[in-house]
Amino acid sequence: MTLNDLKNDWISEFSQPMMIAGPCSAESEAQMLETARRIKETNAQVPIFRAGIWKPRTKPNGFEGVGVIGLNWLKKVKQEYGFKTATEVANAHHVAAALEADVDILWIGARSTVNPFTVQEIAEALKGTKKTVLVKNPVNPDLALWIGALERLLGQNIENLGVIHRGFSTYQKTKYRNNPNWQIALDFKSQFPNIPMLVDPSHICGNRTGLADITQEALNVGYQGAIIETHSNPDEAWSDASQQITPEVLAELISNLKVRNSGLAGFDNEMGRHRTLISDIDFQMIELLSQRMKISEQIGKLKKENDIAIFQPERWKVITEYAVQKAKETGMSQDFIEKVFKAIHEESIEKQNNIMINRM
Ligand code: PEP
Ligand code: MN
Repeated sequence: MTLNDLKNDWISEFSQPMMIAGPCSAESEAQMLETARRIKETNAQVPIFRAGIWKPRTKPNGFEGVGVIGLNWLKKVKQEYGFKTATEVANAHHVAAALEADVDILWIGARSTVNPFTVQEIAEALKGTKKTVLVKNPVNPDLALWIGALERLLGQNIENLGVIHRGFSTYQKTKYRNNPNWQIALDFKSQFPNIPMLVDPSHICGNRTGLADITQEALNVGYQGAIIETHSNPDEAWSDASQQITPEVLAELISNLKVRNSGLAGFDNEMGRHRTLISDIDFQMIELLSQRMKISEQIGKLKKENDIAIFQPERWKVITEYAVQKAKETGMSQDFIEKVFKAIHEESIEKQNNIMINRM
């Protein structure tokens, strides 16, 4: 049995897009029950309630989750409001406790997927489970590591699998908390079209404004659903406050989603996929251009302080020669690359000029 042979019919139990919502972290019984009640009251199609019980935090001394007591609150959410429940497990002890509490869906977090020892430990603790296990992409952009984690689960006869695209961390901060890098997720999808893929716009965006766009983008390229952090009082959340939304905002977001006409799936999918990849690259080009301009401004300041002319013909020659050489290697025309670099250079000079004459 390989990953490609998996049927993954667990997903057909849910109408699509399949939505998972709930707080980043379980904080108190009252917070969990109020969040669940309000999601229910919106009548939004949300069959699954999430909450982090154990929280992986970047730095020590932050809130690290309420621990096993939170599993009782998840149980109450299930009993009182009929949600299926989902939580993150990061070691064998978490797995034992979550299985004991009959959590329906377990996920492996991005910080665990990076570590084969951790994934192996979780897989062995889950051996043969019929529960659904979702694997978030690793924090670093490594497709093989993501696939390897699923292979480890399959190796323990865990066959109800799915993945969550939550973006990839980068040193350069952009408008995203974690860059979507759609290419990686779409490569995963084309290798394993049989493995359901959900988007996690909350951890991609890190804020509330981008959530709807990212979710829609994911549906456009054929994702089966989303996991969205939802909290009864987001501003006061103990973790990830800036990206969480209220149940009512969640319902509004869901009602605005356009679910694609499956009759056109072939064409739409192809087209959507290409457009997403192009937008992704445009985003990266703009980010890089902006970084380049900032460095250019630093150079402008140095030139000013040292009384050096802005235009340095020797330097410009090196830059264009390099660009032309790269254009040849990558099959682009010299003319095109020269035009692009001329435009970039002109803007750079303009910026440095502004610095020289103290307009900035
Ligand atoms: C989470 O879902 O709250 C979480 C910790 O996510 P990630 O593993 O994607 O960082
Ligand atoms: Mn979170």
